[in-house]
Amino acid sequence: MIKIVNNPMDILSQAINNLYPDKIFKIIIKGELKDEDGNEVFGITYLDEELWKIEISAQLSIFNFTEVVAHEIAHAVVGETEDDDTGHGKKWEKEFDRIYKEYGKLV
Ligand SMILES: [Zn+2]
Repeated sequence: MIKIVNNPMDILSQAINNLYPDKIFKIIIKGELKDEDGNEVFGITYLDEELWKIEISAQLSIFNFTEVVAHEIAHAVVGETEDDDTGHGKKWEKEFDRIYKEYGKLV
């Protein structure tokens, strides 16, 4: 048996479960991730049959992977309610900060 004691993805999962116990996010790791224009991206978030799905590039380092998952979870939490066209407005920033702080408490 092996146990990784400081696995960042386990810590991030715990932080997200603490903050959003009733929400379900499905994370899919993909070898290569591209947007609709064919450009390489590291994370994509979309609503699929009322379930938030988050695709994350397997090209990321383990620490960047954790940050991109937190980034995309914040998009899923804010959903369609973000006023800013870029999707990175005040609501998104607030959720991303909450996840970051909760993660920091658990590290
Ligand atoms: Zn984003």
